[in-house]
Amino acid sequence: MTNSYQDTIAAIATALGPAGIGVVRISGPDALSVALKIVRVQPEGPLKDRIATVADLQDPRDGSLFDEALVIYMAAPNSYTTEDVVEISCHGGVAAVRATLDAVIAAGARLAGPGEFTLRAFLNGRIDLAQAEAVADMVAAPTDLSLKAAREQLGGRLSREVTAVRDRCLGLLARLEAEIDFTEDDVPAVDRREAATDIASMISHVGRALAHSGRGRLLRTGVRLAIVGSPNVGKSSLLNALLRSDRAIVTDIPGTTRDTLEEQMDIRGVAFVVVDTAGIRGTVDSIESEGIARTRRALGEADIALLVLDSARDLAESDRAVGRMVGGYGLPVLTVLNKTDLPQALSTDRATELTEAPTVRTCALTDEGVEPLRIALLELIDAGDIRSDELPMVTNVRHEEALRTAQDHLEGSANAVADDLPADFIAIGLHGAVRVLGEITGEDASEDLLDSIFIRFCIGK
Ligand code: GDP
Repeated sequence: MTNSYQDTIAAIATALGPAGIGVVRISGPDALSVALKIVRVQPEGPLKDRIATVADLQDPRDGSLFDEALVIYMAAPNSYTTEDVVEISCHGGVAAVRATLDAVIAAGARLAGPGEFTLRAFLNGRIDLAQAEAVADMVAAPTDLSLKAAREQLGGRLSREVTAVRDRCLGLLARLEAEIDFTEDDVPAVDRREAATDIASMISHVGRALAHSGRGRLLRTGVRLAIVGSPNVGKSSLLNALLRSDRAIVTDIPGTTRDTLEEQMDIRGVAFVVVDTAGIRGTVDSIESEGIARTRRALGEADIALLVLDSARDLAESDRAVGRMVGGYGLPVLTVLNKTDLPQALSTDRATELTEAPTVRTCALTDEGVEPLRIALLELIDAGDIRSDELPMVTNVRHEEALRTAQDHLEGSANAVADDLPADFIAIGLHGAVRVLGEITGEDASEDLLDSIFIRFCIGK
């Protein structure tokens, strides 16, 4: 694909807020001429390719100088989008960066849509679709392991594997099609045993790419954790203990679409997001009304659940009620017997009457058992042995589904070979596999698919 864009886009590439610098990015055929309507190089001179230049910024509408900036021009094709790009690093801060963007728009650029720079990098052939998606994953990565997984995808680890299998499908297809098209001629039939071996090997490659994809998905997005239990069993204390023992930076993320606070913790590189902490930390005294609604909401949003029990007393009806509720959601569950410092009245066996989930004993006040609890949480999501040098190749549901569909198609072809069916039957599955694998890397991506992917990017990426 070649660069076919006629318009020049611009956007703020950094987060809006008080900051040392903010960056406005311009890309397109007129990027340099747009920039030169604003940028006054001091002392006077041109913007040189890939040389950082100090300049005053001048409003093209009234000639006023409004900021001082560092400007970098990257001539096509050696830029993020492969187009002419100019990046203006002006003062950070909402008003300062907006003033620069306004001036750039007044000078003739158009405001970029979400992900439009990365979309151009993709459509101009510099990166493939899986790599473009990895850019968004890097920006959103909650932990160092998520970041590393995204970085590997951006580096082409998944793309290379997908492309290799797709090329092999195409190779076998070409030979099968020659057999179909030239039955009368001297084209030898494709050796069926070789074809079977070839397809089996493709299936196993796809299988290898899919290894631990469930874990990969959680790595990318974080694991949503519900902490549920009767009032006063120690849910809130346990949450505090988990956060205390988290050596990574703990952040309160104000929920953007809900009215609760989410709390995030990092367990050996896997992000856990505790859902509905307002429910945990609130003063809900009764499991009857509000408590039940909150518990249901938390479970509905969660990937896994912690069922907390007070081990200093026997099971109460409210424990059984919560236990039944948890059971109804089919989530992986971990039962926590809390308050081990007090005289014990609840055995592990008795606790498993509620659910057969693995149990951990903790004292939230002294942090005893909290580290084993963290490890048990990792084991619950099949990530007890997660290693930074062996991360899952697939972290994205879209890729996972495409690879599974490719596997099904390839199985179809393998069956056609086994059943000694004619070449065009074998080709059907291979065609299907080529198509879905192409959706991962973008060779076969419809406009709708691209729209649905890039709409989730932030503006400026
Ligand atoms: P929640 O209603 O489930 O969130 O329970 P809280 O975390 O508010 O704890 C209820 C009471 O139990 C508080 O007085 C806590 O200090 C106390 N508590 C929590 N965990 C423990 C524990 O491990 N041992 C003891 N002895 N008390 C605890």
